[in-house]
Amino acid sequence: MQKRTLGKKGWEISVIGFGGIKLPLISQKECEILLNRAIDEGINFVDTADCYGDSEEKIGFALRGRRKEFYLATKIDERDGIGVRKKLERCLRRLRTDWIDLILFHDVRGSEYERIFDSGGLETLEKAREEGKILEIGISIHHSLPIMVKAIESGVFSALMVAYSAFDEDRLAAELLPMAHKMGVGLIAMKPLAGGVLAERPSFPKNKKFIQGESLAQVSLQYVITNPNITCAIPGMTELHELNENLQVGRLPRELTVEEIKAVMECVGEAGKGFCRNCGYCLPCPEGIPIPDIFRFESYYDRYNLKGWAREQYRSLVVNADACSGCEQCLELCPYEVSIPEKLEIAHQTLQ
Ligand code: SF4
Ligand code: SF4
Repeated sequence: MQKRTLGKKGWEISVIGFGGIKLPLISQKECEILLNRAIDEGINFVDTADCYGDSEEKIGFALRGRRKEFYLATKIDERDGIGVRKKLERCLRRLRTDWIDLILFHDVRGSEYERIFDSGGLETLEKAREEGKILEIGISIHHSLPIMVKAIESGVFSALMVAYSAFDEDRLAAELLPMAHKMGVGLIAMKPLAGGVLAERPSFPKNKKFIQGESLAQVSLQYVITNPNITCAIPGMTELHELNENLQVGRLPRELTVEEIKAVMECVGEAGKGFCRNCGYCLPCPEGIPIPDIFRFESYYDRYNLKGWAREQYRSLVVNADACSGCEQCLELCPYEVSIPEKLEIAHQTLQ
């Protein structure tokens, strides 16, 4: 498995990490088989989050006794000192470990970035680092480029986790990723297959393979790690065949052929129409509706079975989708032809 260096401490982590977001979909026994196989085969970076259902508990139990064999990352959605401390202790307990290698402020949006600094969240993690309970601090940001830039420039975070797949090429690849890399910030690509969308396209049947015998999912994953600025991609996995395919990609990272890039881009084009990429170009909405966040919560609800968490997040928003006045301002701004007002209505029905 190819290794790349994460952050300033020089951790050598596998270019393919284990994304734990889908673990709530499978049994404890299946998790044990999958995770242990992943570690046996050279994956040494495991990612989860406090909000991924029972993912932390499953990882903690499945990999008990093997803690020194991998880097463990988890994410918390608290911003203030008391909340962060409480969540950190819970993460440690659920993961059955004395230390977490990388802890990230999860899904930071809008004014939350400042709150990390102003309300004691960062200070608490820095103290936890002195205590040896965590080793590094990172941040995950889904769609705000200005916040990503601020986080990179702050010099505070060792790693930045961003949603990056072939869908995000035009948005992130040209400037943001090289900038982070240059500043020594490790880049972890979450959703490298766009939540599975790039693994299954109608125009590319599941059993069809590329010349090298690789599936569409593999070629799409190759596409992500071909970017030298990416330290590690963390596809979510629930089945052994997915793990095997991902291992094969990590063992033989290679440049894609022109035909393969064309095929991936055709899939992007096909799925792209009407598919929300969480880019945030449609903002601001005059009613204050956080459009990309709502579509993301909906995808967590549908694709990852994080129903409770998605509903909780939706209900905690200051403005919900039912505030849409139908002004259609966002439609002019969305480059991907998402039928926003229509889709917001559906999302509201699902998440309210
Ligand atoms: S149509 Fe709805 S979501 Fe779009 S900008 Fe107008 S109020 Fe906001
Ligand atoms: S609705 Fe369109 S503009 Fe808004 S985040 Fe999604 S893809 Fe981007």
